Amino acid sequence: MIRFILFTFFLLTVTFESTAQEVHRCGTQPYKSPFLKKYQANPENYDTKSGELLMVPLTIHNVGNDAGFGYYNFNKLMDALCALNTDFEDADIQFYIEGDVIYHANSAYYTHTTFVEGANMMFENNIENTINNYIVSNPSGAAGYNLPYAGIAMGKSYMSPGNHTWAHEIGHNLSLPHPFLGWEGGVSHDGSVSHNFNNPAPEYVTYDYTVFQSEFFNDADTLIIDTAFVEYVDGSNCHIAADGFCDTSPCYLAASFDCDGDIFTNPTQTDPTGATFQSDASLFMDYSLDVCANRFSDEQIAAMRATLINEKPELLYDLVPPALVDAAPNQTMPLQDEVVPFDEVTFTWDAVPNATDYFIEVSRISDFSLIAHEEITSNTFATALDLQVEKDYYWRVKAFNKKSLCAPASETIKFETGDFVSDENVLLRNFSIYPTILKSGSNLNINWQGNSVNNWSIQIFNSAGVLVQEELNTDLTTNTSYEFNTTILTQGVYFVVINADEKTERSKFVIY
Ligand SMILES: [Zn+2]
Repeated sequence: MIRFILFTFFLLTVTFESTAQEVHRCGTQPYKSPFLKKYQANPENYDTKSGELLMVPLTIHNVGNDAGFGYYNFNKLMDALCALNTDFEDADIQFYIEGDVIYHANSAYYTHTTFVEGANMMFENNIENTINNYIVSNPSGAAGYNLPYAGIAMGKSYMSPGNHTWAHEIGHNLSLPHPFLGWEGGVSHDGSVSHNFNNPAPEYVTYDYTVFQSEFFNDADTLIIDTAFVEYVDGSNCHIAADGFCDTSPCYLAASFDCDGDIFTNPTQTDPTGATFQSDASLFMDYSLDVCANRFSDEQIAAMRATLINEKPELLYDLVPPALVDAAPNQTMPLQDEVVPFDEVTFTWDAVPNATDYFIEVSRISDFSLIAHEEITSNTFATALDLQVEKDYYWRVKAFNKKSLCAPASETIKFETGDFVSDENVLLRNFSIYPTILKSGSNLNINWQGNSVNNWSIQIFNSAGVLVQEELNTDLTTNTSYEFNTTILTQGVYFVVINADEKTERSKFVIY
């Protein structure tokens, strides 16, 4: 019998969320965390370190289908994170990508229809001491949701700048309820009782927070109902009603509502005393349309900061402010309208201050809506081996580090793949180096069959793209090998780059 109830319950949840998609952007269900209750009882007891920058690590789980299609484009992800940080600027809270983006080719994650599936996805893949964010195609029928004990699922079509769903879900993750807490199911927990906003609201409403218990799987078969006091317009019960914040004005609207500039066009509502009002549409945590929302309230900000400092201090292990990356890379190869060998196209650009990584995209379409090659690299070059012959392509590159992802992309450069292979364009025939893994202090042997070119240089770059050793004007024309002394290099990955007459050969080696 218990199993039957459980099944019925989740079926109802799915139905609710499917309906919700058209009017709600958020699948997060009503909940006030034990920490928030404790905090709101005595907020003056908590030092929120107001004005100090709090840097918060995010793990990004980029989910595609079983075939590996449908991943969220990394360029768009950078734009989304940049927009998220803009939304949190006034809170002095900023987010960064911790570790590498994790890719999951998993259709069951990509389109999941219940919180159980979403929770299992999170339990299996979460990285500790970060806020885990799963970017999927369909997060249980919602635009996004937060599971307080697990993480955030975001629908990729709700990630674009101008859409504040991610900020809203992270607000939930940092303890914030909806300002209309208690009205998620209307005046009753299951939406079964209709309410006319022209009539006075009841003194309290009920809400279902079964799935947001911290021990979700142990007690999800028991329906748990709580009550919320309805907030008065005069603010007299604001500390105990709805979300418990006094600077988030009353709102009973658990459905999208509009505004017109600063003018609220949402329905007039009536509080339990008969006083009428319209809701403030400017708060990210309400369901006002994205175009209306632009802020967290001061009390919401203080509560999020208190949550980080007191309840989730494990997230605050790297408070170093971002080293700003604000320039676009200067592209050096291929240049506009250049014709290059189709089988091996090498892209190069100049290093950008403070950048640790670069994202390069190659497309047949100038708006990059379809990607032929993409790559994240710590180098200032990349190679595409998979382009078609005699086609026009476009390429661009963006510089970033894990805390600074708002730099503009480079110019879009058009080039053409010629009907010839890279062998005709090589600097050195049969170019090779050995050993590719060598002991510190030993010599690197470079071998080739030379072309008659003068003004050679040999450069060694470390894995961060920094030039660490260089020999200029080396005469290689009469030799077929060269012994390169690596004594000054410490352990690590290096790239040897040989330049001559605007041609380049590259290879990688490791010193241990
Ligand atoms: Zn929400």
